[in-house]
Amino acid sequence: MTNSIELPSLSVFQVVAVCRKTGKPQFASVTAPSQLDADDFVADVQPDWIVIRDNSDLLATCDHCEQRFPKDELVACAVEPDFLFCDDCADKLRD
Ligand SMILES: [Zn+2]
Repeated sequence: MTNSIELPSLSVFQVVAVCRKTGKPQFASVTAPSQLDADDFVADVQPDWIVIRDNSDLLATCDHCEQRFPKDELVACAVEPDFLFCDDCADKLRD
């Protein structure tokens, strides 16, 4: 008899934090079952970081790959400024 274990599906979440020492914003991409788990993980491994748990204001979605990124890492489309792209997608679309 075999036991099957249900593994939660993993996604990449952006965790936003502020460094206690420098006051600078910090961003990390963490593979986790949920945003909460990603936040908890970063809070555990980076005790100097104050994790901002409600980070929706600081993140925006790439209109191409639909992943979440820090707002200042996204670039507006030259033709349609309402569309935001991450660096990867901006590179791909340029070709
Ligand atoms: Zn993208």
